[in-house]
Amino acid sequence: MHEKSLPGCPDFVFVSAHLAVFVDGCFWHGCPICKRTMPATNATFWRSKIQRNKSRDVIVGRQLRTCGIRVLRLWEHELRGTVGLEDAIRRLTLLLRKDKWCARRDLNLRPVG
Ligand SMILES: [Zn+2]
Repeated sequence: MHEKSLPGCPDFVFVSAHLAVFVDGCFWHGCPICKRTMPATNATFWRSKIQRNKSRDVIVGRQLRTCGIRVLRLWEHELRGTVGLEDAIRRLTLLLRKDKWCARRDLNLRPVG
């Protein structure tokens, strides 16, 4: 479900679990692992754009948590290949089963703010 009424327009929303899931593109959200190459043209524009995206991610995370909604952010690269996809599914499944404090401790969620 793509819920446009929530801050940040999460990619998936699990309403009963109060969980919003984002899949962040590695280039667009400035993945520190992939460190995608900046386009040669308009590099300043792209750096600024990516920084704005990262800042917005932090703000959106805070807004959602203020509303009592947990946030799971996955990187695009984490969903490539069987191992990464299985790990993402495992993290999501645990979040859907456990309370937020257990999930945070067990799953090493990516901080968003
Ligand atoms: Zn990445």
